[in-house]
Amino acid sequence: MFFVWLDMVYSSLFFFGKFTPLIDDRQGNIMPIIEVKNLKKYFPVTGGIFLRRRGWVYAVDDVSFTVNKGETLGIVGESGCGKTTLGRCIMGMYDFTHGEVVACNQSVSKMNLTQRKKLALGLQMIFQDPFESLDPRQTVGQSLEEKYLIHPRAGISFDSDIDKLMDQVGLLPDSLLKYPHEFSGGQRQRIGIARAVSMEPDIIICDEPVSALDVSVQSKILNLLLELQEKIGLTYIFISHDLSVVRHISDRIAVMYLGKIVEIADAQIIYDHALHPYTNALLSAIPVPDPELKKQRIILKGEVPSVENPPPGCRFNTRCGYAKDLCRKTEPKLFPNKNDSSHLTACHFFS
Ligand code: SF4
Repeated sequence: MFFVWLDMVYSSLFFFGKFTPLIDDRQGNIMPIIEVKNLKKYFPVTGGIFLRRRGWVYAVDDVSFTVNKGETLGIVGESGCGKTTLGRCIMGMYDFTHGEVVACNQSVSKMNLTQRKKLALGLQMIFQDPFESLDPRQTVGQSLEEKYLIHPRAGISFDSDIDKLMDQVGLLPDSLLKYPHEFSGGQRQRIGIARAVSMEPDIIICDEPVSALDVSVQSKILNLLLELQEKIGLTYIFISHDLSVVRHISDRIAVMYLGKIVEIADAQIIYDHALHPYTNALLSAIPVPDPELKKQRIILKGEVPSVENPPPGCRFNTRCGYAKDLCRKTEPKLFPNKNDSSHLTACHFFS
């Protein structure tokens, strides 16, 4: 009964439909608004009395993808797979070890501080825990006004903008006088979304924005994100560990494992014709309302290996039920499917 209700709640998301306007160049080609090229982010591991470097955490390891304007790319994977680090690299919050991120036609890595501040206007982030990102001593009004003071824009002021903004995110005007602790989790996430949208961004990186919320509230926040995308033409990168949430908001989905993308395709293709064994294991764990439709649960053996010491060859080989010698020796590259070039998989046997 619970799963039927859960499915009904998520199904209501289709009320707003999906918005997928894509910008064209003069030849009518789809132009990406974000390009991530061979991105690597390694964190040094230090130890001993001299704090010498004794290794690396390979948080993001050679990741490439593009996102088109008006599109939502879902990034999904278990905790520690590197999806949040990836989002932060795109935001310019981390210097990366190798590779390039081009956002709104500008290379993030080559920007100086002033340019990054400017980019921050067009590229905003929504965090998992809005309570953490709000100052408990500031009212919501003060917290929102702060954004306008840090990023002044010609012809736009807090006073001229605030009524429209509160209406857009579904908050009452008297909320401006309240403090964060006076709101529920869902309302606090609306405040977080208001802070992001107030800068009129092109792109919003949503880092687990509904993970801390009840299922019924999750659907309202996802509906709000879809509604804003339709009204303002936003592009989202939606990071989550929950494939059932990502399914309802994404146009395409990238599945990450131990710092690498192992499969990327249209959302529907991922759900109906996933190829990679890891993606299929994640899909088999999603609860379904009809027992007859239930896939056999794939139980992954063992623990996720350390990102400090990933296994050689395919990183999934220690948990994959199909692993052969080749998998333990040679790393599979992300390769397009022969029937669908937009469906890429990194596996020697399922691609
Ligand atoms: Fe499994 Fe081998 Fe494919 Fe890796 S390359 S997912 S170990 S079958």
